Amino acid sequence: MTNEMRALTKAHPREGLWLQTAPVPEIGPDDVLIRVRKTGICGTDIHIWNWDEWAQKTVPVPLITGHEFAGEIVELGRNVDGLDLGQRCSGEGHLIGRKSRQSRAGKFHLDPETRGIGVNEQGAFAQFLRLPAFNVVPLPDEISDDIGAILDPLGNAVHTALSFDLVGEDVLITGAGPIGIMAAAVARHAGARNVVITDVNQHRLDLAAKVADVTPVNVASDDLEDVKARLHIKQGFDVGLEMSGNQVALDQMVEAMVMGGRIALLGIPPGKSPVDWSRIVFKAITLKGIYGREIFETWYKMIAMLQNGLDVSGVITHRFDAADFAEGFATMKSGQSGKVVLDWDNI
Ligand code: NAD
Ligand code: ZN
Repeated sequence: MTNEMRALTKAHPREGLWLQTAPVPEIGPDDVLIRVRKTGICGTDIHIWNWDEWAQKTVPVPLITGHEFAGEIVELGRNVDGLDLGQRCSGEGHLIGRKSRQSRAGKFHLDPETRGIGVNEQGAFAQFLRLPAFNVVPLPDEISDDIGAILDPLGNAVHTALSFDLVGEDVLITGAGPIGIMAAAVARHAGARNVVITDVNQHRLDLAAKVADVTPVNVASDDLEDVKARLHIKQGFDVGLEMSGNQVALDQMVEAMVMGGRIALLGIPPGKSPVDWSRIVFKAITLKGIYGREIFETWYKMIAMLQNGLDVSGVITHRFDAADFAEGFATMKSGQSGKVVLDWDNI
């Protein structure tokens, strides 16, 4: 095996990413080396491309970016057992510490020392990725590399959607980005009665309606109250999944909820944003912040649901060779796409 590879790198502290030659990572005794086949472009990668304030504060330069991937194990560290060469896999991109109270209690997703591949550590937009064996998630044969490459954002959707009991409930999702759309599919699969999804981007609402059995609502032109009446939702939505990061959407959600409703917040507002707390208090609403995926319960559940009829394949709208990454990023930035997947086989 050659000791050089191609990798999409934040090589300079300015807008853009650069496809460069980099050394193939050396693995430690508890790691595996993964030959990357497919990767997904995430909103986080767009922040890193744009080199916005968050990226400047967070991302070291140079750094190989990317954290959504599927591939195959090509080397095993000497302490690794239970995994085989040639095993197809995806993996958890949050590298956790083992010292915190939360980690030692098995609540790995709450470890405060978590570091992200492609954000703080070398990432997956490359021909090879080093990953702790602990983080590897083997892929069953029936899950394709394309779907394997979007399990990370699907995991965000699953973690959020399964935060509250959805069976027979009326669910409101604000934001029909890729994660909102996948959450809609999960809520439907998990037994919600009505799933309503809002956005201001009609292209994305049309995609949502193609991927999942949902009621799309363009809040720029349609009144959510009318939609509630049409669906015979008498009081309000039982469960809200906030997936836009937009203040207006959160306000609208709080208004549209039933007394005692439950809201899971995944969307990240750009900065501090005003919240009408008294409305939340008087409606006795429960709020839950969501970060990442539960390690590894979310992975278990999402793979089980994919094996049991959950279909999110329609959310992948574009595929490019990794060499054409610039086109992939432009497509993501246009807002006229779902997930964009890059293929690393022919680089
Ligand atoms: P995205 O930016 O592609 O989608 C957000 C959508 O919200 C867009 O389609 C946008 O048009 C829509 N929107 C804007 N204003 C709206 C309004 N007033 N009402 C309804 N919709 C509105 O994002 P994504 O990749 O699908 O991710 C969803 C959110 O989750 C983002 O905020 C992202 O930063 C966040 N996120 C959080 C975590 C976490 O661990 N907490 C992980 C991944 C992503
Ligand atoms: Zn992501």
